[in-house]
Amino acid sequence: MNLTIKPGREKSLLRRHPWVFASAIQPFDSPIASGSTVDLLAPNGSFLARASYSPISQIRARVWTFIDEPIDKEFFRRKIKAAIEVRRRLQVEGRSDSYRLIHSESDNLPGFVVDQYKDVLVLQSTTAGSEFWKDSIADILVEETGIQNIYERSDVDVRELEGLKPITGILRGAISSLQSPITNYEYGLKFRVDLEHGHKTGFYLDQRENRHRVGELAKDRDVLNCFCYTGGFSIHALANGAKSVLSVDSSADALALLEENIAINSLPADKHTSLEGDVFQLLRKFRDENRSFDMIILDPPKFAPTAAHAEKASRAYKDINLLAFKLLRHGGILATFSCSGGVDAALFQKIVASAALDAGTEATIIEHLSQAGDHPVSLHFPEGAYLKGLICVKG
Ligand code: SAH
Repeated sequence: MNLTIKPGREKSLLRRHPWVFASAIQPFDSPIASGSTVDLLAPNGSFLARASYSPISQIRARVWTFIDEPIDKEFFRRKIKAAIEVRRRLQVEGRSDSYRLIHSESDNLPGFVVDQYKDVLVLQSTTAGSEFWKDSIADILVEETGIQNIYERSDVDVRELEGLKPITGILRGAISSLQSPITNYEYGLKFRVDLEHGHKTGFYLDQRENRHRVGELAKDRDVLNCFCYTGGFSIHALANGAKSVLSVDSSADALALLEENIAINSLPADKHTSLEGDVFQLLRKFRDENRSFDMIILDPPKFAPTAAHAEKASRAYKDINLLAFKLLRHGGILATFSCSGGVDAALFQKIVASAALDAGTEATIIEHLSQAGDHPVSLHFPEGAYLKGLICVKG
């Protein structure tokens, strides 16, 4: 099936951006099966790209290839082998047994996220196109990685936009049920990871390098870790000799795993406190109580999934960063993050600057952070660069 792009709307495809919006496609008559392959043609009839078709989503087509080549199992095998090769070059395995093997558009596989946790792969399929090819991809993954077990975590909200229902469960493997939580390691530290119910595919793999870096700076500091989840930053801070760590999250399940993580790493439990609650309220409470810290970590959930949410998200980011600057002692470190696609790095830095200004403090950036390399960013898909972080010192 051929779809013709409206005049002028082929520009993004010529720049190799993989998304085609419904409004960019010329009207056509015959129905197209969900997830099936279509050719995208320029107004003059020339070939632009081969893509998957999403009948419901505003992103009506997602490009598999800009080359005139068949979309079949061998095509996907080549893409998966290339993704595996990138991770081999990164040598993530020396640092962790868990990493992202496939990062959707940035690995030229829109709709597919695959995370490897030692001998289990966790697959997330988010589009009509990925749903169409899911079984073939699962087979290729087993063949190319040698890993027998694949667990599916296709339970993210964005599937709704594609008219897809949530699916979780065992996709491949001899096991009758997953032995979860599993234990993975990161820079010599162990973490309990709930692959079935945890956030994302169980662990925030994108923050691996940042947890290590921030941990290195935590020695002898009183640390406040906000939005701590299962304690990634807290465990690294404790292992690096933090004086004390206070970890805050609204999820009791996450905090239960955090306590296990302290125990399995034989870290000093007397230096750590878990607090279940809302960070926005607790930061205010700490301010009213005149509490102070030498290091504050802010790693909130995605406040702005798209640019449409940017304004409201900006207020939320400013609020917590302002309070954090107030709670920091002189010379204290703020490690602040945003994983919102709708707030880019420049805007995020502006928000943090205006938070410092309103808090009445001087602050300098000593490091810019981003997502780990196993979450690569295609130069043609800048939306792939979603995680940004700043390490600031309060002057
Ligand atoms: N830094 C963590 C990941 C944080 S993810 C790591 O490295 O693993 C964001 C966390 O924020 C989630 O655990 C979620 O439960 C928590 N959260 C979301 N809204 C919250 C709120 N208002 N107050 C406290 N925690 C919140």
